[in-house]
Amino acid sequence: MSASVAAASPATATATTAVRQPVTVIGLGPMGQAMVGAFLEQGHQVTVWNRTPSRAEPLVARGAVLAESVEAALGANELVVLSLTDYEAMHALLEPASHALAGRVIVNLSSDTPEKTRAGARWVTERGAAFLAGGVTTPPSGIGNPESYTFYSGPREPFDTHRDTLEALPRADYQGEDPGLSALMYQIGMTMFWTSMLSLWQAIALADANGLKAADILPHANETLGGLGGFIDFSMHRVDAGNHEGDVDRLAMGTASVEHVLHTMADAGVDTTLPAAVVDLFRRGMEAGHEADSFSSLVELMKKGA
Ligand code: NDP
Repeated sequence: MSASVAAASPATATATTAVRQPVTVIGLGPMGQAMVGAFLEQGHQVTVWNRTPSRAEPLVARGAVLAESVEAALGANELVVLSLTDYEAMHALLEPASHALAGRVIVNLSSDTPEKTRAGARWVTERGAAFLAGGVTTPPSGIGNPESYTFYSGPREPFDTHRDTLEALPRADYQGEDPGLSALMYQIGMTMFWTSMLSLWQAIALADANGLKAADILPHANETLGGLGGFIDFSMHRVDAGNHEGDVDRLAMGTASVEHVLHTMADAGVDTTLPAAVVDLFRRGMEAGHEADSFSSLVELMKKGA
């Protein structure tokens, strides 16, 4: 062995045998399975539990340990990640095992409303565990990808302590001590995602009614939705400043345009639920006197609620 290789060996051995924090993952849907896979790949010992035990089989084959019960899964490790459908599922699982919560750090990466997240955080901390909430912004295929990120919120100290371990999943983006903040950021993202995707399905329905395939409008769709970045950059600071000065984006012009869209959909015989809702909002903006303002003035209407 050369001197240089011999000198490098102890450091290499230390790096490869460094002890990673063991972690428990409860909930093995597509997301929980991807998380367990990422932890295993990073060299963590992983204890798992799932209501339907068969979902653990491929993970056990890769080295995860299946706990016999929720209590055993909680007892196995200080750090416990939950990946469940929602907070109702968390309560269904943890309430019968609540005596095993004290001293744990529960990281709930299940989606729900900010209010349910805050109530869940109170419930867990009242039982002696620390609680962090997370909103995962990537599909399971993005887990383990450092370019993806997850919003976290809750007390800073356990977040800082466990950040390195949690970043075996997507990168961690800490939002603050209020446990509801990660769910809020997640829902803000979902608001944009679902409505944008609905607009795409609506466009495809119209194309189909006119004999076009979705693929036929692909470049147009990419250009139209991809081009929204310019509107976003232009709008945000103006909206914060309450500046809705109209120019080529006047609400009156926009209202004529969305009415054309609605009539085009009706003529094509496709569903008009979405364009009708859009027209309703634009007309209410007109009735409120915003016709000469930018269509961003609709945000003032939305802030007030129906
Ligand atoms: P699933 O709904 O497919 O999986 C949910 C898990 O929760 C399963 O392990 C299921 O157990 C368990 N579960 C549900 N209800 C109960 C209950 N009452 N008691 C015990 N266990 C229960 O979700 P995903 O894995 O897709 O996602 C997990 C979380 O991540 C969700 O909150 C989701 O919104 C969020 N997320 C998901 C994304 C995705 O693309 N999938 C993207 C971003 C966030 P069982 O196997 O027995 O049914």
